[in-house]
Amino acid sequence: MCPLCNGFQQFHYQCSKCGHHIEEVGRIMDYFDDYSAYMEIDQLKQIDGIPTTLSGHECAHLFYCPMCHHEEVKLIEE
Ligand SMILES: [Zn+2]
Ligand SMILES: [Zn+2]
Repeated sequence: MCPLCNGFQQFHYQCSKCGHHIEEVGRIMDYFDDYSAYMEIDQLKQIDGIPTTLSGHECAHLFYCPMCHHEEVKLIEE
């Protein structure tokens, strides 16, 4: 179970562009529901250099930087 989805734990990440605190805006799966979007996530994950698949025990969350409007995906271990 993802601790972020279940509110067990707070996560504090910084924007990779500007270093500002980024806010969790939701699960990737809640934003995209078609196959092409899943492919997009895989590409994002490759850009981040994270060698995992969507079948792994990880939950992808979308984070947003209010300072520079950068969005990034973080994988939360379930
Ligand atoms: Zn989650
Ligand atoms: Zn930023």
